[in-house]
Amino acid sequence: MGYNRPLEVRSFFSPLFDVARTMLGTHEAFTRNAFRCCICGTEITRQQARSFQTCTSWKCRCEYRGRLRDQAKQAEARYEQALTQFRNGLCSTRNQLAGACGVEHPERFLPVCVPSYNAELVPMTADRREALRAFLLALLEDCTREADAAPDAHSETPDQAGGVDSSDHDAASETLAEFLTVACTCCGGHCCTDGGDHAYFTVDTMRQYIARHPDRSPDAIVDDYLQRVREETYIASCIYHSANGCSLPRPMRADLCNSFECYGLTHLRDQVAENAGTGLFIVATNQGQVMHHRFVEPLHQPDAPPGGS
Ligand code: SF4
Ligand code: SF4
Ligand SMILES: [Zn+2]
Repeated sequence: MGYNRPLEVRSFFSPLFDVARTMLGTHEAFTRNAFRCCICGTEITRQQARSFQTCTSWKCRCEYRGRLRDQAKQAEARYEQALTQFRNGLCSTRNQLAGACGVEHPERFLPVCVPSYNAELVPMTADRREALRAFLLALLEDCTREADAAPDAHSETPDQAGGVDSSDHDAASETLAEFLTVACTCCGGHCCTDGGDHAYFTVDTMRQYIARHPDRSPDAIVDDYLQRVREETYIASCIYHSANGCSLPRPMRADLCNSFECYGLTHLRDQVAENAGTGLFIVATNQGQVMHHRFVEPLHQPDAPPGGS
């Protein structure tokens, strides 16, 4: 994976910022000292400026709401236009890269864009490990307290191992799971940056682990989790965010980690659901530059051509 010559891809969100900047008085309401009704010019309070931007006259408020509706329609139109341009840009990026990857008929691969995570790896510190240890112990204490208070309350804790439900383990779901994995691999964990030293663990996470390992003591459970921390992690990201991705197996992760899907993955799901059997061109971009890309085919298809970067 990797691509040396950056390609410009139109930033997907910039048109939305343009719209926000032009919304009636939004910015001014927080920065000015004197405020006026944006329709009739009467002086109003800061509070009024924040909520309605108008005086108390119903005529002004009706007109203001009408303007907001018009602006919302215009914003929607601009958003649609930006989306179309963005997707067209991805198609031409795909077509350019297909040649270099030996992929024929690139139009068979629908483009999907995800973010790209790029940061420095730094040595793990003892402080971070200690912070995680303290956090896990506190969660386990909460579990014990709850279990003492209501002994049968969580005896049927489900095993949320994450990933795809094995009861629906057909080729289509295998393909989807593979596509999702490739997309997150291309991205590198953009959504993990807020994981800190807590990795989104909750009392539920511990409860589920205890249910699967009823013989483990709290100290042993803490050790299980600490052992998964690598010697190096990305700077200012989750304690488990290592060079090879998340160093925790899925069953040990928080529910949030197993269920979260960014906009890119949601779009990927939609593409696969609406275009059964299609291939995907998955591209990870950072500030408009293509950082990684892959051409992926549905699984179990004969004669799949080579692809990828
Ligand atoms: S869910 Fe989205 S942001 Fe998170 S790793 Fe996957 S592609 Fe990246
Ligand atoms: S535990 Fe893994 S998936 Fe969850 S935030 Fe940390 S690195 Fe990301
Ligand atoms: Zn007015």
